[in-house]
Amino acid sequence: MLSKKGPLRYGCHIRSHGSFTQMGNTAIRLAELEGCSCFQFFAKNPRSLQLKIGYEHDAHECRLLLDGASIQTIIHSAYVLNIATSMQADDTLFKAHAMSLLNDLVIADACGAVGVVVHFGVIKHRDKLQGYRDIITMLNVVTDSWHGNALILLENQAGLHGGLGVTLEECVHIRNLCRKPDQIGFCLDTCHAYVSGMWNANLPDGTARLLEHGRHMDYWPYVAAVHVNDAQAAYGSKRDRHAPIGQGKISPTAMEQLLTSTELQGKMFILETPESGERLHSEEWELIRTWYALNDHTSHHY
Ligand SMILES: [Zn+2]
Repeated sequence: MLSKKGPLRYGCHIRSHGSFTQMGNTAIRLAELEGCSCFQFFAKNPRSLQLKIGYEHDAHECRLLLDGASIQTIIHSAYVLNIATSMQADDTLFKAHAMSLLNDLVIADACGAVGVVVHFGVIKHRDKLQGYRDIITMLNVVTDSWHGNALILLENQAGLHGGLGVTLEECVHIRNLCRKPDQIGFCLDTCHAYVSGMWNANLPDGTARLLEHGRHMDYWPYVAAVHVNDAQAAYGSKRDRHAPIGQGKISPTAMEQLLTSTELQGKMFILETPESGERLHSEEWELIRTWYALNDHTSHHY
């Protein structure tokens, strides 16, 4: 089980600009200045499937820096990665996607990252069931060749590009149907959960319902990280536009209830929100710290 009880951990996505050591130094600076202790970064150019080579020394230095500061990380796979790429339709293309994900997993282990976040998969105009089959095939092929520690973290989606990955059922069942579910965990994106209709944060009991549903589905124990994003667009709109937390359509009360819930204790809270200039995410992190201080009784109920 992934679930680790632990202290409040928050941070953000950091652009590495090709150097993991530089990313590690930025992480340490933000840990000292803002109390952050978890981050996300790209292993390579996110707009290409091209494999990264010659990173070993840089990744090792990065790992030493992060371990020394007790900072946890996850890697975000390339935007162009599509785990619903069909092996039958184009074997060469399928291999290119599988190799890109494997490359990310190897780099994750080298940098000491917990896992690699992957979007659920894009099917465009194809049949949904075939899409699920293709995703399972991809995850099986990749995990059959993967013997390291880094996990594949399936991220729930906003609802476009074929509409896959918008329910806890899809996340949990796809994981369970794979040959090696122990190598697969989840990353919950709060903006996607809201705009897809998974989390009705407008209802007074909307968060309690999501938490209960996740308990029923046995989803929460396998969540490694939360992409803590507010939404610019309305509930159910399927529009994937992130807003700084407290400044979008998601009620701050609902976000507070979700983040301070027992189910999310000890998970990495990672912002993927637009940075507010020089001050970066200071105000958003302050908000999270305040919610935790106000819910002291909850946060200590491990
Ligand atoms: Zn996300």
